[in-house]
Amino acid sequence: MINWTQTLSNAIVDIKELLSILEINNENLLKKIDNNSNFPLYIPKSFITRMEKGNPNDPLLKQVIPLLKERENVPGYVLDPLKELKIINKLGVLQKYSSRVLLIVTGRCGINCRYCFRRHFPYNHFALRPSYIENTMKLISSDKTINEIILSGGDPLILADSKLMKLIKYVASIPHINTLRIHTRLPIIIPERIQDNLINILIKTRLKIILVTHINHKNEIDHNVEIAMNKLKIAGVTLFNQSVLLKGINDNLHTLKELSYSLFNIGIIPYYIHFLDKVSGVAHFEVTERKAKILYKKLLCNLPGYLVPKLVKEIPNAKSKILI
Ligand SMILES: *Cc1c(COP(=O)(O)O)cnc(C)c1O
Ligand code: SF4
Repeated sequence: MINWTQTLSNAIVDIKELLSILEINNENLLKKIDNNSNFPLYIPKSFITRMEKGNPNDPLLKQVIPLLKERENVPGYVLDPLKELKIINKLGVLQKYSSRVLLIVTGRCGINCRYCFRRHFPYNHFALRPSYIENTMKLISSDKTINEIILSGGDPLILADSKLMKLIKYVASIPHINTLRIHTRLPIIIPERIQDNLINILIKTRLKIILVTHINHKNEIDHNVEIAMNKLKIAGVTLFNQSVLLKGINDNLHTLKELSYSLFNIGIIPYYIHFLDKVSGVAHFEVTERKAKILYKKLLCNLPGYLVPKLVKEIPNAKSKILI
């Protein structure tokens, strides 16, 4: 069996190595690459195998390759676009909406996505530390209006099974919590993360489990991802997906249509498609609101309703995500 932690530690961090695996020596691309980004290249090989060799415009490659453009200072693009630092407390708890709270359980991820809205997030100060768990849970216990806990990060499935089990047991011990939601990209990057041990933990808890994957393009879905989702499905986990609308990656009707159908094929319901959050370094991924609306209308006319994700954007201090 493939060891997912091994796959993680063998991730590619060197741009030359990446380009050599992909057989790319496109002069034009080489000139644009940032070899020294403070949000470094980090891609497990299991994800690279899904990229097309020789294609500098591969939609998966574009999500993860550091470009010099990211250094440009673009008005409106800031370090903390959702003003999360004003809301989060030292126990890793972020509550913006009614009835559900989000926990930042780790700052680590299985990959570095260039467009990530938490790419400048000071996880060192705010991620939930094991020694805080009891106090965090006490805080949540004291608010009976909360019925759902969302594990976020970073990527919560980076945590070892033993840590996840402990966390889930704590959550399950709070009587008014009935749903645990896990926001994760790791089972897409390294599908072998979904092993029997984890499945057993998810089966045994009394909590309803929702897993929200993060897939932006159908090429991210391969046979191993399908196997992983199947295991979760059999365990009774509800599967949703969220995507980010990204210029040059998925901002056309054909790609979004294919994505929805491919998700459904492996048992995932499209949930959200997010407008890009305006974090420093990502302006080149922006799709204008005007273009997004036109595209979304086309999507509505071309798919059954259950395959159309909600197009949303986040506004600091709003009481929900904003439907476009
Ligand atoms: C997106 C988000 C949620 C979840 O919102 P849903 O609309 O229920 O999916 C919860 N808390 C925070 C802070 C969020 O950003
Ligand atoms: S997996 Fe999610 S949190 Fe991690 S870098 Fe990618 S977008 Fe950001």
